[in-house]
Amino acid sequence: MMKKYDYLIVGAGLFGCVLAYRAKQAGKRCLVIDKRPHAGGNIYCETIEGINVHKYGAHIFHTSNKMVWDFVNSIVEFNRYTNSPMANYQGRLYNLPFNMNTFYQMWGVTTPAQAEAILAEQRMDVQKQMHGREPQNLEEQARLLIGNDIYEKLIKGYTEKQWGRKCSNLPAFIIKRLPVRMTFDNNYFNDRFQGIPIGGYNKLIDGLLDGIDIKLNCNFFDEYSLQEKPDDNKICWHEIAHKLIYSGPIDEFFGYRYGELRYRTVSFETTIEDTPNYQGNAVVNYTDREIPFTRIIEHKHFEMFGSDLYNCPKTVISREYSTEWQPGMEPYYPVNDADNNELADKYRQLAALETDIIFGGRLADYRYYDMAPVVEQALNIQI
Ligand code: UDP
Repeated sequence: MMKKYDYLIVGAGLFGCVLAYRAKQAGKRCLVIDKRPHAGGNIYCETIEGINVHKYGAHIFHTSNKMVWDFVNSIVEFNRYTNSPMANYQGRLYNLPFNMNTFYQMWGVTTPAQAEAILAEQRMDVQKQMHGREPQNLEEQARLLIGNDIYEKLIKGYTEKQWGRKCSNLPAFIIKRLPVRMTFDNNYFNDRFQGIPIGGYNKLIDGLLDGIDIKLNCNFFDEYSLQEKPDDNKICWHEIAHKLIYSGPIDEFFGYRYGELRYRTVSFETTIEDTPNYQGNAVVNYTDREIPFTRIIEHKHFEMFGSDLYNCPKTVISREYSTEWQPGMEPYYPVNDADNNELADKYRQLAALETDIIFGGRLADYRYYDMAPVVEQALNIQI
C-alpha cells in the first residue's frame, strides 16, 4: 500500500495551490485534485492570438500586505498594470473610481472645492430624505456617499445588472469597495501593490504546483467519501491522506443539509477582433441598465503596454453577463444578503467542528474575496 499523503487538497485554485506549495516547502506530501480539466481555478488563462485571456473573468492582483506581495513575486514577477476602468453611460465616458476626473466629466467642475460643494448639496438632499438615520442598503449608502447624479448614472444600472437585485435590497458594504477621491487619480485600488504576473496567471499556478501531484477532471464527491465505510465504488478520503483541505462550496460539502446557498454567476461572449486596440483600456463598464452586459474586457491591456500592443495585430474582448446561479453552473460571487449569510453561518459552524479538515477560500468561506486575502489566508494556516 502506498504511503498516505499528508494532505488531500480539494480545489486547485489559489487557496489550494498556495497551501500545496507551503506544504511541500515544509517537507509534506500533497495530492491536489480539481474537477476541471485545468488547475488555477478562476485565475486560469487561455492563450488566444498570443493574448492571455482571463477565461473566468478579469483578475487584478492588489494588496497592501508586503508579505503577500513578496510571496507571489517570489513565484513569478508581477508587471506594473494599474486598474483604471472607464464607465460608459449612454455613450459618454467617465473615469472610475469616483474622482476629480469623474466630477469634471459629470459636472464640469475643475477644483476640489467646486466638486465638494456639489457633493455636499446632493448629500444634504439624501440626508433629508433619510431623516438622519443610518443607510440601510446599497442605494442609501451610495447616494449618501456620492450623491444622486453619480448614483443614477454610474452605480444603479451596473449594480442591478451585476447582482440581479434592486440596490435597495442589497447590503451597503458592496459599494464600500469603491474609493471616492478628491484628486485626479484613476487608480481603482488604494493598495500599495498591484499588477499581473509577467507571462500570465498560469505562471503563478505552475510555479506553486511545481513538483506536486495533481489529478484533474476529478470531482471529490464522485471519487471520495466522508464516510469510514463508503458504499459504491468510492473510497474514504482518510485512506489516502491524513488531512483534508477543502476549498469547494461549503453547502455541497455538507450535502446541502440546511439548503442551498445562492451565488451570482458570470458568462462571457469572447470574440477576436481584427484590430490591435479595440477600446484602449482593459476594462470598460457599461453602467446603463438597458445594455445587457456589465462590462467589456480587452485582455491584452493587462500585459501589453506601449508599442507591444501594436506588435500583436489582433485583440480579444469578452462581454461579461451576470446571471443568477443555477445548479450545474460555475458559482462566482456569493450573494451576501442577510438570508444567505445566516445559512452560511450554519454551515460554518459545522465546519468548525471538523478537526482534520481545513476549509478556506471564496467558496468554502462563502465570502466575496479578492485574490490577495485568499493568499494571505493560505499563508497564515499552520501546516
Ligand atoms: N460599481 C458600480 N459601478 C461601476 C463599478 C462598480 O456601481 O461602474 C459597484 C457595484 O455595486 C458593484 C461593486 O461596485 O457591485 C463592485 O464592483 P467591481 O466591478 O469592483 O467588482 P468585481 O466584479 O470587479 O469584484
